[in-house]
Amino acid sequence: MGKTGAVVSKYDKYVMNTYMRVPLCLERGKGSYVWDIEGKRYIDFFPGWAVSGIGHCHPVVSGNVAAQARKLMHVSNNYYSAIQAKVAEAIIKSAFDGKVFFANSGAEANEAAVKLARKYGHPTGRYEIITMTKSFHGRTIAMITATGQDKVKIGFEPLPVGFVHVPFNDIEAVKNALNEKTVGIMLEPIQCEGGINIPDIEYMRALRKLCDEKDLVLIFDEVQTGMGRSGKMFAYQIFGVRPDVMTLAKSLGGGLPIGACVAGGKCRDVLTPGTHASTFGGSPIVCSAALGVFDAIKKGKLLANTNKMAAYLRKKLEALKRKYRFIKEVRNVGLIFGVELSVKGADIYKECMEEGLLINCTQDMVLRIMPSMAVKKAEIDEAVAILDKVLAKL
Ligand SMILES: *Cc1c(COP(=O)(O)O)cnc(C)c1O
Repeated sequence: MGKTGAVVSKYDKYVMNTYMRVPLCLERGKGSYVWDIEGKRYIDFFPGWAVSGIGHCHPVVSGNVAAQARKLMHVSNNYYSAIQAKVAEAIIKSAFDGKVFFANSGAEANEAAVKLARKYGHPTGRYEIITMTKSFHGRTIAMITATGQDKVKIGFEPLPVGFVHVPFNDIEAVKNALNEKTVGIMLEPIQCEGGINIPDIEYMRALRKLCDEKDLVLIFDEVQTGMGRSGKMFAYQIFGVRPDVMTLAKSLGGGLPIGACVAGGKCRDVLTPGTHASTFGGSPIVCSAALGVFDAIKKGKLLANTNKMAAYLRKKLEALKRKYRFIKEVRNVGLIFGVELSVKGADIYKECMEEGLLINCTQDMVLRIMPSMAVKKAEIDEAVAILDKVLAKL
């Protein structure tokens, strides 16, 4: 049994089998690269499942975390911590005027958003939230209810009331779902797990208008799209449509678990002392990582790099599309790429791994490719060459 096999057999014995894991045991990472326990190197074009948005072990993030770990790791939220205040300020200054609640994950950030919306609607007896089919909002009981895909719900019924789903990018469907109980609309500005689905700008604007007219809370789940990967700091900025509430997680901590629920305008002061809490939320150690992410994006001009590299990767993937007829479409916003196939992508993804390239496949037929914001041209060349080699075998 190799080193990987030994780890896998321990998992078989001791770790709950909730993930469809591939037999790859990663040991270290640097930028766009990771190494497995056997010493093999991989180029990672889906780093950390969208968590390592600025690459693995960015020196600024790792440095901040190491220093903070020696200073103070945890502070209870009935005290103040200067570093939590700094991260809240950094988020607000790059988003919109408002306030931040700190959680520890995407699902938790969304829970805070839904609680906020319900509290907002409470005086008028409204609680229902419209979400989209093919959405993904997390795995808590409320978030599997919010998620518009049966695969996450089956076996966990009865589910709570208060969520209805309508098709994505269809404003009439939203209007038809409105009723006297509706308090909010929640969606990802770009559906990622759902297959990299990009809505029309008119739809996004119409949602904003509807929420203003009907006094609804517009919630954008930017857990995956936030923190620069779209080419703007937050994907809503691409559409010029501001939400009332935005949630963040994944890339925000550069590898450490942090979530944030950001609320502006009429939603800014809805949650009051005693209405919501998190023991670990916004601890100094995760906040030091998040501050590092903001610093790294600014100092490394990573938004500009994202846009430049996105254009380059798009050109290269379009060339593959011309070469292989089973590539139906290449979709992207910044470095959030979906390559839609007319065949199943599972084997492609596995073969790429064998060849030293990590990507993802979602909704069976969409290759999800989201390289680090610090990715270099040569790394794109290397990754696309591997993908080309794998596709040529089909
Ligand atoms: C990953 C994800 C979540 C869930 O985040 P967790 O940290 O796993 O709870 C929620 N929404 C979106 C859009 C995501 O991509």
